[in-house]
Amino acid sequence: MAKMKKKESQWETATNERLAEAGFRRGGARAAVVALLDEQSCALSAYEIEELLAARERAVGRASIYRILEQLDELGVVSKVELGQAQARYEPIRPDHHHHHLVCDKCGAVIAFDDAPLERAVDSISKRVDFAVEGHEIVLHGLCADCR
Ligand SMILES: [Zn+2]
Ligand SMILES: [Zn+2]
Repeated sequence: MAKMKKKESQWETATNERLAEAGFRRGGARAAVVALLDEQSCALSAYEIEELLAARERAVGRASIYRILEQLDELGVVSKVELGQAQARYEPIRPDHHHHHLVCDKCGAVIAFDDAPLERAVDSISKRVDFAVEGHEIVLHGLCADCR
């Protein structure tokens, strides 16, 4: 669960700096969304962000959340994760961390996973193909422990 107080992470600090450089005012709804995303181990949808902020009495309207997520995406600090669900999800891009997703096709749960041999396999394919590979996304579909 969300921690109440925490030190700013590298991602949160760098993101707030990027926002300030881009001319955005510090603080406010934008900082609340950045802080919330920073606490997560995986991606959130705009709806989930709205619910979580409202639960801590830091309500931000859905339209503002969408606008903020678009701004963060344009700055290249979050990745937009499309998992074949109605809503896109967003998560911080951290230079030292990279993961993929398991998606429950019944309840919509999204679970992060990482795997070193899988990354090595993707690297090896990237070197072999006549293509400048810049990224990859791997999504495994199925049923989560609760839905099985
Ligand atoms: Zn994730
Ligand atoms: Zn499920």
